[in-house]
Amino acid sequence: MRDFSYLRAASADEARQASRQAGAMLLAGGTTLLDLAKCGVAEPDQVIDISHLSDLDRVVVDESGATIGALAKMSAVADDPAVIAAFPAIAQSLSLAASQQLRNMATIGGNLLQRTRCPYFRDPATFAACNKRNPGSGCSAIGGVTRNHAVLGASEQCIATYPGDLAVALVAFDAAVELRSDQGTRSMPVEDFFVEPGERPDRETVIQPGEMITGLAIPTSAAARNSTYLKIRDRQSYEFAAASAAVGLDFEADGRTVKDVRVALGGVATRPWRVRAVEAALTGKALTEDVIAAAVGHAIDGAVAQGGNHYKIELAPRVVARALKSLGGLA
Ligand SMILES: Cc1cc2nc3c(=O)[nH]c(=O)nc-3n(C[C@H](O)[C@H](O)[C@H](O)COP(=O)(O)OP(=O)(O)OC[C@H]3O[C@@H](n4cnc5c(N)ncnc54)[C@H](O)[C@@H]3O)c2cc1C
Ligand code: SF4
Repeated sequence: MRDFSYLRAASADEARQASRQAGAMLLAGGTTLLDLAKCGVAEPDQVIDISHLSDLDRVVVDESGATIGALAKMSAVADDPAVIAAFPAIAQSLSLAASQQLRNMATIGGNLLQRTRCPYFRDPATFAACNKRNPGSGCSAIGGVTRNHAVLGASEQCIATYPGDLAVALVAFDAAVELRSDQGTRSMPVEDFFVEPGERPDRETVIQPGEMITGLAIPTSAAARNSTYLKIRDRQSYEFAAASAAVGLDFEADGRTVKDVRVALGGVATRPWRVRAVEAALTGKALTEDVIAAAVGHAIDGAVAQGGNHYKIELAPRVVARALKSLGGLA
């Protein structure tokens, strides 16, 4: 690891202003940043510690929704009884992510900004070509081992998956992310915060230099209250998703006709992936096994496999179907 200077910020504004300097990076839980520094992907000149700032770690849930500070720990949000009651899929996405030790350290803001687990991206010593690390250098994954790569939202420049779980559930339930800069505070749907790789895989979100995530706002809804996060992974102890789905379901008064449904996918796309085509195919219909089977085919509309990741095209619709059946009492 290279040498860097360390600043223990006295306030969020001091941290944000210091982070405008070239080579400066914020340190929250450090569970991603220090890993990336050790493998030579992140090369901060200055690390600005925000982990101790207590005004950004609150979790508040009321009738209208949840507000969650960027520095709330993953474990605190996952274990919050009010979050579990109003947003089971959000709580599950966190409790199924990483390990208990990591969740006790890692923060909500850092979780959103974690980088891809593409092995070529994380091994600059062996693989010089990576457009995400080094724009224009090429992509070592294409034509290589692609088992964990994306089938949705990829470009000719990058096929890396977005690895996080929480953001998938946030996108399903229309959560907003709050960003603070010298110009003030702006809020946007989490769905718009993440961008597809296109020609510039190095740009993963719309966050600007000197801007900081301060929190999240998640509106309550009946679909969020009746929701689940289903994660399929290679091992149960801790592992990133091969495919996952955040699904929420609300019925009309007859208890059968779908009034509101939310579906987002993880592990298969270059960003958290809301699948409105599945939602449209279910809304207004009585939920049956046949209706689910027809709808979930749309989960992978536009998917393109790169060799080893072809299994995700079959897996993703099955994950969505299983989640829908379990929420709809058909499992
Ligand atoms: C072994 C292992 C397994 C894991 N498994 C999973 C998994 O299954 N699912 C999953 O979702 N995650 C998983 N993770 C990732 C883990 O959840 C993240 O490392 C963690 O959430 C990052 O949070 P942090 O607070 O430690 O971030 P940090 O490492 O402190 O920061 C991460 C990045 O975010 C920036 N940053 C942090 N806070 C802010 C802010 N408020 N505003 C602006 N920028 C900010 C930092 O500058 C840095 O670039 C795993 C990690 C490890 C090491
Ligand atoms: S898939 Fe993306 S992150 Fe992985 S090597 Fe190619 S450009 Fe880099």
